[in-house]
Amino acid sequence: MTRIVITGATGRMGRTLLQAVDGDGQAELAGAVDRPGGEAVGRDAGELAGTGPLGVAVGDDLAGVLPGGDAVIDFTLPEATAVYAEQCAGAGVPLVVGTTGFDEAQQGRLNAAAERVPVLVAPNMSIGVNLTFKVLDMVARALGDDYDVEVIEAHHRNKVDAPSGTALRMGEVVADALGRDLAEDAIYGRQGRTGVRDQKTIGFETIRAGDIVGEHTVLFAGAGERVEIGHKASSRMTFASGAVRAAKWVTGQPPGRYDMQDLLGLR
Ligand code: NAP
Repeated sequence: MTRIVITGATGRMGRTLLQAVDGDGQAELAGAVDRPGGEAVGRDAGELAGTGPLGVAVGDDLAGVLPGGDAVIDFTLPEATAVYAEQCAGAGVPLVVGTTGFDEAQQGRLNAAAERVPVLVAPNMSIGVNLTFKVLDMVARALGDDYDVEVIEAHHRNKVDAPSGTALRMGEVVADALGRDLAEDAIYGRQGRTGVRDQKTIGFETIRAGDIVGEHTVLFAGAGERVEIGHKASSRMTFASGAVRAAKWVTGQPPGRYDMQDLLGLR
């Protein structure tokens, strides 16, 4: 049994994670944490998740519940994750991070935590998306520089960062495969007199609408043909069950930074 603590337990992903842990025969809920002052604090976590009582009250202090946990799963906001990572490192508890949108300083804080405990960070925990990263690497290498690359993503109206962490990761995979630098070659949306397309460009287009769970397409367009590699998530449960699998895996690893490619053996 892996005893799991969930931060951001009241969020969209937090509630789905509570359901995923409840439905997993090899995991149990050791703690559910909301932000200090959150209105769910003190309530049974199962009430939030709609699973029926789970016997774990929502708390607002991660450090207090860490001694009873084998791993923490965090889907919150980057500033919260950075603090939680330091607390996990201090308590020697492995961490799985699904949160997206980290800046360089926050990435540095995750890396510092990873020197002391295993930290798995993945902008997308779905098994399908992580296989797609591998496929993109193969396709980009095979097609080379003659094909224009565009990454198109769509998410629900409440998503607060753009492009999605998954879209950026897809762009990085393609850039690496083609020997390009995403920081130099990415272009985020186009408007007005843009001039003709620079062949090295990797374009990103973002859609935010309704309740779309998460859709990504990488388009490789050449002379006379297009190759489209895509993934559509229809339920948050795909991310939650991937994160629970990651939590069970990460507890057996030495300190270090990991992603889902490590878990799936796709390096
Ligand atoms: P959400 O519904 O807004 O949930 C965020 C949770 O974090 C809420 O419980 C929120 O509490 C809590 N939170 C916010 N600020 C906090 C703080 N300073 N301290 C402690 N807790 C804080 O968002 P979501 O849709 O679940 O997404 C959460 C993150 O996961 C996003 O970064 C999203 O991009 C990412 N995500 C990743 C994957 C993946 O597979 N890796 C999949 C889906 C989403 P309040 O409600 O009280 O503010």
